[in-house]
Amino acid sequence: MSYKLPYGHLSPSQLNTWERCQMQYRIFVAEGAKAPPDCGLEVKKQTHETILETDLGQKIKTGTNLPDSHLEEAFLAGLEQRVALMAEDPNRGAVTPEQIVAREQGYFGKIVSQSAPWRKKTMPKSVEAEVNFTLGEVPIKSRLDLVADEGVNDRVLDVKRQGRGPSKGSAQNSRQLATYAIGTGIADVGLAVIVENVTPKVDVELGQVSQGLVERVQAQYQGIAGEITDAIEKDRWVPVDTTDQRKAWVCTAQYCGAWRIGSKDWKTGRDIGCPYGERAQAKVYGS
Ligand code: SF4
Repeated sequence: MSYKLPYGHLSPSQLNTWERCQMQYRIFVAEGAKAPPDCGLEVKKQTHETILETDLGQKIKTGTNLPDSHLEEAFLAGLEQRVALMAEDPNRGAVTPEQIVAREQGYFGKIVSQSAPWRKKTMPKSVEAEVNFTLGEVPIKSRLDLVADEGVNDRVLDVKRQGRGPSKGSAQNSRQLATYAIGTGIADVGLAVIVENVTPKVDVELGQVSQGLVERVQAQYQGIAGEITDAIEKDRWVPVDTTDQRKAWVCTAQYCGAWRIGSKDWKTGRDIGCPYGERAQAKVYGS
């Protein structure tokens, strides 16, 4: 079967967006709109860049980690650049770019020192490497955070910064990690989570991707590729069901860059306000 896919491929993050809200997929994937920078997201992206690319990326060649002070400087310089853009966003909320940088100035040093044992132990083989492959006739393109040399085997790791550590079994049941395992042929996978406690820590959950999960994931890619092809051909996109309280969080100003009437594409300034956002909420909640 030949699928119609934006950019000609799918990725784990595209699947997540599709499952959250088809309208969101249309706006941010099919039409390629860019949401304004978001405080929490920019901090996470800069953490990712500093720990993975700046430190572990150079370790592939040098075999050693960078000094803690270097990582802190690189993080703050990168974050300042990222949040400077937010000063232009009228919808950025109560937190100012200066407040974000001030908060991270003290905290990121703790992340660097608390993650040191894990960073030192990790022997990276590749960082942010692109993988391209086909799964049940669906072309897939994605980036692997980290492939680590574990002695006998290699392991594919996804690295995140978030409030909670990984739950038991989350690595071996992760669709994202299963996708990577299929793309690389590496069955050993893991999640390395920088947990944002008062004293941050790195929690690692390891697993092995089973054949059953591989088959389920392949079926999901094929099913969703078919749905996207159909949506593109008919130009028919279903908004998230905001009457379902388990899903309603998606359709809020915090989680959807198209939620407000008059929301702008951050690249072009084009109006991307979704007709099902603010107005639908007003209708549902009767305000
Ligand atoms: S505003 Fe709501 S319905 Fe519209 S794209 Fe965003 S999440 Fe989907």
